[in-house]
Amino acid sequence: MPALFIGHGNPMLAITSNPYREVWKALGASLPQPKAILCISAHWQTVGTQVCVSKHPKTLHDFGGFPAELFEQQYAAPGTPEFARLTQSLFPAGKISANADRGLDHGAWCILQSLFPKADVPVFQLSLDLNLDFSTHFKLARQLAQLRNRGVMVIGSGNIVHNLAQLNMQGKTADWARDFDQYVKSALENSDDEALMHIERAGPCARLAVPSDEHYLPLLYITAIRHNEDQLHFMTESFDLGTLSMRSVLYS
Ligand code: ZN
Repeated sequence: MPALFIGHGNPMLAITSNPYREVWKALGASLPQPKAILCISAHWQTVGTQVCVSKHPKTLHDFGGFPAELFEQQYAAPGTPEFARLTQSLFPAGKISANADRGLDHGAWCILQSLFPKADVPVFQLSLDLNLDFSTHFKLARQLAQLRNRGVMVIGSGNIVHNLAQLNMQGKTADWARDFDQYVKSALENSDDEALMHIERAGPCARLAVPSDEHYLPLLYITAIRHNEDQLHFMTESFDLGTLSMRSVLYS
């Protein structure tokens, strides 16, 4: 199965007419039908790593200040306790705990609505343990690569550049945002995992582009599970609201 990282941007992109959503829809139509989708979203952060084992994950509206239409959205894909338990079994006992209550956060459903609009593919999520450093996340993620051979499509959902404090409503993109996005693009093109794990090498732009880890981490998970024979494709490459990089990555 291909592995994808999607820059999800602001939640309104899920219900408005915009070029990103068009790309997500076209991409979804071109992808093979997976047995299950594992989504690693910026919006599920925990202490210790958790996997969602719910049979019917509810749609979480984990945001505020948006119109009612966004809160009315439902993504009714089934869960898949089987694949979630399989994922757990790839790690030593106790390393990943099961969570039966967790639903799908907006990092997941806002893009899945366009990628898989029928909501007929079972979805489960893995959380981000914010106590881990980038190298440890990367090592953990490597274990997930084998899921791709079992019919699971792994989708990371975040943003390579994500600075809400410096959003620009006119959409003007600052140099530091472009610089960091280009640094990551180049690292991906060169399969330079060290550069992706040690983003301070990008210089001062790194701290502005990644003020907190959670939106960047899903990219690390996807690069960690690439296969040697994968081709790298960039699907969207611009910025939402000036400081959210919409760069999306496909390994297939
Ligand atoms: Zn987000």
